[in-house]
Amino acid sequence: MKKLINDALTVVDDMLEGVALANRDLILLQGENIVARRDFAALGAAGKVVLISGGGAGHEPAHAGYVGQGLLTAAVVGAVFTSPSVDAVLSAIMTLTGPAGVLLIVKNYTGDRLNFGLAAELARSAGVAVEMIVVGDDVALDDNGTVGRRGIAGTVLVHKVAGAAAEAGLPLAEVKAAAERAATGLFSMGLGLSACTVPAAGTPGFTLGDNEVEYGLGIHGENGVRRGPVEPADNMVHVLLERIFSQGQLLPGERVVAMINNLGGTAVQELDIVARHVLAGCVTHGLKVEAVLVGTFLTALEMAGCSVTLLRVDDATLARLRAPTCATAWHPLQSPATDLSRQPCAALPVSAGPSGASWRKAATFKAALVAVCAILKEHESHLTELDSVVGDGDLGTSLARGAVAIERALDTLDCDHPALALQQISAVLRRSLGGTSGPLYAIFTFSAGASLAGAEVTQLASWSRAFQAGCEGVMKLGGAKAGERTMLDALLPAAHALRNREKGAGAGECALLAASAALQGAAQTKQMLPRKGRSSYLGERALGHVDPGAFAVGLWMMTVANALNRF
Ligand code: ADP
Ligand code: MG
Repeated sequence: MKKLINDALTVVDDMLEGVALANRDLILLQGENIVARRDFAALGAAGKVVLISGGGAGHEPAHAGYVGQGLLTAAVVGAVFTSPSVDAVLSAIMTLTGPAGVLLIVKNYTGDRLNFGLAAELARSAGVAVEMIVVGDDVALDDNGTVGRRGIAGTVLVHKVAGAAAEAGLPLAEVKAAAERAATGLFSMGLGLSACTVPAAGTPGFTLGDNEVEYGLGIHGENGVRRGPVEPADNMVHVLLERIFSQGQLLPGERVVAMINNLGGTAVQELDIVARHVLAGCVTHGLKVEAVLVGTFLTALEMAGCSVTLLRVDDATLARLRAPTCATAWHPLQSPATDLSRQPCAALPVSAGPSGASWRKAATFKAALVAVCAILKEHESHLTELDSVVGDGDLGTSLARGAVAIERALDTLDCDHPALALQQISAVLRRSLGGTSGPLYAIFTFSAGASLAGAEVTQLASWSRAFQAGCEGVMKLGGAKAGERTMLDALLPAAHALRNREKGAGAGECALLAASAALQGAAQTKQMLPRKGRSSYLGERALGHVDPGAFAVGLWMMTVANALNRF
């Protein structure tokens, strides 16, 4: 078990102290794990109903995160996944309740029902006006057993509806009626991708295979309805939705609020993928989704997975969900979009510069390009390996992606005008490459093309100047210079070799000299301390390894040289 805790025995205390220290509107009650609104006495004086919820810890931000103006008055927190005691609930009731009375909102678990239920009875016998509502929104299990449905994430919506009604000053019976109306139209179902570990237990409560998910998993890891293989998210979410539609008897034309809840360990991007299918699925089913909530509302510790909730709403319920609150875990409702049409992007013209002169070497130019693309694809895993050692391991995929993009664009490149073609290549790389190499290769080809545009393209000297211009572009944009362990340590020696080319040497010969200089330069990066880019974080640990960007330059330059010498 690896957790950010001090001691398994003080998890709940430490957590609640963190919550209370971070928010001066909250106060902890003495001797119990109860978080309350600091202004609870003023509530009572104003004749407002007090709202108390809670249950075992481990569902954060529920329930302490929902304490605040417009939502709960207090949360009574038990040990992890364990109902709080009768006396804890009773302490909350007796300390906080004013003349307007208290509504207890309880998730349907036997422990919670009994502890909250007995506390309610005892408080009533002492003359306190207490009402209790039990929420069971989990449609995974049929509603025909004696224990009824479990209360899961949808409960948070009941808190909010009751919170707004209490804040508005409605009497206890009406607050309870508003909460009950919400609770009867509330349908949720969970999907578990992993187990979770109760700190005091130290090991996961159950195991799921690597390729296994559990439909209808409870928020304490209780059994779901069935296990199945991992499938595309849409398929798995579809199972939840279909069950919710049928169990909720949700009919076309009905109005709902949708909640997509993180069970604790799910990446935000996955929740958005779930939301996409939930919203599309509701529309297909003919439901009118009035509002949507996507986030972490009620969890099962670090369990990966989600739950989906649909709440049948009328105007009054919707208004209560939209009413303001200061509780930190609540998110304002989002209004879903009705269509997904995209705004077209404005773009630079493909060629931003002049086209320059034409030449008769289009076929050679193209052959060199094709060979470069092939070698970059062939070396994808090798470059990935090199970049994994000193960087983040994406260089191989990036350059291979760039190569595929160039291959696709090959027929649209104006290879009769190399200056223009280089600028077109720059545009392709700009769009396809990404990472650090993307903009650097884009500026290299753009600057080289721009330099060539004003030159005699058949002269080797023009190509040497264009190459130098490309290097200067890279230095200006990336801020690196020679010896800092970047692709420049291959490019600059090559530029130098081109400048000092032997008189009378042909293009193929020059290219070979330049490529050899590039490869040598790349090899020397093994002894250079990284000063730019991601490998700079490694410091001396990079020594002995070649810079992947410099190596890639040597690779494609040698390929160009070979292609020129073949033609
Ligand atoms: P990242 O993944 O770090 O964004 P890439 O994997 O696309 O970058 O490219 C890594 C290569 O980029 C490095 O090996 C290095 O040669 C080159 N590089 C990094 N920073 C610079 C810079 N400022 N100037 C020139 N080249 C750089
Ligand atoms: Mg990288």
